[in-house]
Amino acid sequence: MITRFCSKKYFFLFCLFIFPFITAQKKFTIVLDAGHGGNDHGAARKYDGLGYIAEKDITLSVVLKIGRMLERDKDFKVIYTRKTDVYPSLTERTNLANRSKADLFISVHVNASHKTAPYGTETFVQGPDQNKTNLEVAKAENDVIFLDAQDRATFASYDPTSPESLIALKLQQSKYLESSLVFGGMVEDNFVNKDKRFSRGVKQQNLHVLRMNAMPSVLIELGFVSNYDEAQYLASDKGQNESAESIYNAILSYKKARDKKSGSEIAAKETVKPKEQPLKNDFRILLMSTPIKYNYGDPIFKGLNYILPIKENNIYKYYYSVSNFASIRDANLKTARDAGFKNAYAVGFVPDQALSNGHYTLELYVGKDKLSSDSYILKSLKDTKREKVSGLFYYTYGNVKTLEEIVQIQKALEEKGIKNSVIQKVSK
Ligand SMILES: [Zn+2]
Repeated sequence: MITRFCSKKYFFLFCLFIFPFITAQKKFTIVLDAGHGGNDHGAARKYDGLGYIAEKDITLSVVLKIGRMLERDKDFKVIYTRKTDVYPSLTERTNLANRSKADLFISVHVNASHKTAPYGTETFVQGPDQNKTNLEVAKAENDVIFLDAQDRATFASYDPTSPESLIALKLQQSKYLESSLVFGGMVEDNFVNKDKRFSRGVKQQNLHVLRMNAMPSVLIELGFVSNYDEAQYLASDKGQNESAESIYNAILSYKKARDKKSGSEIAAKETVKPKEQPLKNDFRILLMSTPIKYNYGDPIFKGLNYILPIKENNIYKYYYSVSNFASIRDANLKTARDAGFKNAYAVGFVPDQALSNGHYTLELYVGKDKLSSDSYILKSLKDTKREKVSGLFYYTYGNVKTLEEIVQIQKALEEKGIKNSVIQKVSK
């Protein structure tokens, strides 16, 4: 198409100009995710002679090494979820990957066991938990979700331990499973053949960073920090260089296999199934509307997590999850209906849309009695507003135009210890 278009004399100069941009777009985009970071050290051990060894440092070092090798090749575009010792939430990591429409997502981690004997590498692809030995990894790598207020307040996920999450999972996993397995196999083969490591294999596991990605994705465990020999290897330049090279070489092999138009099943399958494009709107699942206020974790939510209540005209609307992917939206809707919310439906939200007629505020407290002037809320928040409506005192805080802004304020208040505030949409 490009050749024929460019052969027309009229467009020659135009094509000279535009062609580099067309080829630039065909770069193979890789998201490199160094596990953990910041206050989240991941797996860590202290040994005499080796000192303190933390997963977050090993993963960052290895990821930067892989990135440097890839960046030498202009066929690749590298996106890092972090390049320093910071902690992006798991949702921020997967959203970044989805927005960038990456071709491959690689999350690098280090394992730990409560015993010192286990050792070896393993690579996880998205799938249902296969056996009990995988559960420890799922717990270690998913636990971060529950520490993460932003994930809960802003974005969607399911409780990975709940049975209904498996329903949604089945929709997601099949799409990129084959490519993920192929790549995972290449990584483990390199660890064994090149680095003479012991491979525990390629396994399926229900992990947040893999589940929420709309592209082939793997989570690589480089070895066990709880095993002295492996800890020493992983902390060394040799160990980190070898691990990075093995992953880099697997990326080259995977891209080569994918690029082959004939003879490669992966390439054929991926051209038949185009990548899912994000929708313009965010979708939340409306579970119910009621004048009653329920707090997080109330049994009325039937175990569903990630509930966002929004009050409007004295009615609390309880929304579950959020996604801008149709497949995830539909899966979340099914999860809600299967949990018993038969009338649940998806509601579209325009991201960053400012209210033209009204504002968002946070309802902090409702009660028959006034808050005492030395209550924690009034002492820590100066600009609280009080209103009395039919015998009840309402305390609110904040006045902003977008849902995203009020969610940020709510998050800041939660960090101060002011919980269970409700976002309120006030129309004028
Ligand atoms: Zn980890």
